[in-house]
Amino acid sequence: MSKKNEEKSKSKQLKEKLFLQKKNGVVKVGEEELKKADSFCEDYKKFLDKAKTEREAASYAIKRAKKAGFEEFDYTKTYKAGDKVYVNNRGKAVMLAVIGKNGTKNGVRLGIAHIDSPKIDLKPNPLYQSNDLAMFKTHYYGGIKKYQWPTVPLALHGVVALKNGDIVEITLGEKDSEPCFVITDLLPHLAVDQMSKVMTKAFTGEHLNVLIGSRPFNNDEESESVKLNILNIIFEKYGITEEDFRSADLTMVPAFKARDIGFDKSMIGAYGHDDRVCAYPALMAALDVKTPEKTIITVLTDREEIGSDGNTGMKSTFMIDFIADLAKAEGEEVRHVMAKSTCLSADVNAAFDPTYAAAFESNNSSYINQGAVITKYTGSGGKYSTSDASAEYMAKIRNILDSADVLWQTGELGKVDGGGGGTIAKFVANLNADVVDLGVPVLSMHAPFEVVSKLDVYETYRALYEFYSAE
Ligand code: MN
Ligand code: MN
Repeated sequence: MSKKNEEKSKSKQLKEKLFLQKKNGVVKVGEEELKKADSFCEDYKKFLDKAKTEREAASYAIKRAKKAGFEEFDYTKTYKAGDKVYVNNRGKAVMLAVIGKNGTKNGVRLGIAHIDSPKIDLKPNPLYQSNDLAMFKTHYYGGIKKYQWPTVPLALHGVVALKNGDIVEITLGEKDSEPCFVITDLLPHLAVDQMSKVMTKAFTGEHLNVLIGSRPFNNDEESESVKLNILNIIFEKYGITEEDFRSADLTMVPAFKARDIGFDKSMIGAYGHDDRVCAYPALMAALDVKTPEKTIITVLTDREEIGSDGNTGMKSTFMIDFIADLAKAEGEEVRHVMAKSTCLSADVNAAFDPTYAAAFESNNSSYINQGAVITKYTGSGGKYSTSDASAEYMAKIRNILDSADVLWQTGELGKVDGGGGGTIAKFVANLNADVVDLGVPVLSMHAPFEVVSKLDVYETYRALYEFYSAE
């Protein structure tokens, strides 16, 4: 070897020792792992199609948990290592706990994902007729780019609660045999004015009206007879009247199913990956974990997309009250338990999109197929409104993941001062636990059709499983 070549190989060696390894994740993990990822995602796709709202995701989780031996939690009982319990918070949020060998004494391990997604909620008085078309007025939920929602086939999901206590469940628009709904848009020919507006002005919240019918009742000349016809159809199908919409949680979600994306089928396109793409792995990790050292709790929460306010969101006391019950039964104080507790806030991050590269800082972005993304902090501006995971906690998580060869990466949410966002991490940190965000990178986040990598979904499951299983 010439002197020059020898020098080269020395620097190569040194690079390998000192540099972050930047190999494609698919190359890193190999064929076997990819096969496991693909098969894991087959069931994930079914979950996506079955559980498009927080209520549907919560009831899916409870069903799976019951099958796996979880029982409804009873705070008057004491539990032993290996016992599995669940808590149903109003049918919109769920907690699953597996009691550890040491119970809550040395803290608990929390995996928290959210099961609400951006959607188009109906207003309490939604139905109206305008120029012989029947429409629903809506009030969007969560952060959406409003222009993405018109001309997308929509399905109606939710419940109507009647005064007598009955609950009418509605899902319409998912089956091929069922009608779906749509928000209309203006044709380009007449959109000269619209197209010259900035996006936030061209599509406003009050433009998001859903088309739901056009035929009058009995070809009657009576006023509002299209509205009458639609209400009559609704009454015959569900037994509800216009007044009953006042006590309803009804929402419009995209009517399409989860699909493989790409010639290589390496990705999944679907509505509401954020954050069911972390909720599903967290649920599966809770079902699969062997009796852990510390009690593990998977929380599938609601209300994240609007800031976690509300009794089913993470600003509510429902989780801390549950941990207090577990602690009390073991003679522990909840504040001592929380101080020793750790959490993975399982939420998505923005995947680097080459088409919109300018929004990202390439050294600190998450990438499709590079595995679960750890986000040390979110927030905006000068790290406002975020908890920032400590160096020590980051090291602990690195150690757990690397010991099990989990594929993972780090990422920030876009460029500094480019915008920002938050997760539930800060609410858990405010309870005096250690927490960091870990989840799946997503393309087109919050769009009606979001994209994730199958490998990243599986590695997020493995990350949560290893976190729960760690000593
Ligand atoms: Mn999210
Ligand atoms: Mn979100």
